[in-house]
Amino acid sequence: MERLQKLMARSGVASRRKSETIIQTGRVKVNGKVVTELGTKVSVSDEVMVDNVPIGKEELVYYLLYKPRGVISSVKDEKKRKTVMDFFPEIKERIYPVGRLDYDTSGLILMTNDGDFDNYLTHPKYEVNKTYVAKIEGIPTNEELKQLRVGVKLKGVKTAKAKTNLIEQNPKNNTSVIQLTIHEGRNHEVKNMLAAVNHPVKKLKRESYAFLNLRGLKVGEWRPLKKYEVDKLL
Ligand code: URA
Repeated sequence: MERLQKLMARSGVASRRKSETIIQTGRVKVNGKVVTELGTKVSVSDEVMVDNVPIGKEELVYYLLYKPRGVISSVKDEKKRKTVMDFFPEIKERIYPVGRLDYDTSGLILMTNDGDFDNYLTHPKYEVNKTYVAKIEGIPTNEELKQLRVGVKLKGVKTAKAKTNLIEQNPKNNTSVIQLTIHEGRNHEVKNMLAAVNHPVKKLKRESYAFLNLRGLKVGEWRPLKKYEVDKLL
């Protein structure tokens, strides 16, 4: 016997946390009956359905998408904006994004139906490195770059150590381009870190995630992860 949300995550429905919400919103049936209780235990002989589709029959899949700006990284959007799902019309599995990129941020985002993979990669304790390239207002001083590296206070809590690399300085239009590598994943972290040192972000792109990058892909294109890439991430 195992907890319903655990079985759902293991079967690729969603992460454990998201599975709890799915249960609470009445989308799950066990042996034909809607179950909204989170503690419910099930065994392999029970028939579990999500949105009336039996679970446990999906192959686990992993994709790397080069998300364009102006696309929301969730499965559905109430405002009917374009979502990352719109790039996978032919994929039957119930995939969803691993973590989030802001609507106006472009770059690398992973998509999967493997709840454990999602949980693992998005849990702060695993410290997956993410590298961003930001076009910012102004030209940071050495002191400001150091502040970014050692950590800046966001809502009273210091960010973890980061790596910086000032790639371009454009005194003519008072902008610069900086590469920032962080391993936390707080909301709008890169934008907030740069705003905290008075260099608001004008444009943001995630160019790498762990050892993965966007090489070979154009904006809006995706590719499946190779087996060794999935194994290396876990
Ligand atoms: N940090 C941000 O501010 N935005 C993103 O989309 C990702 C990281």
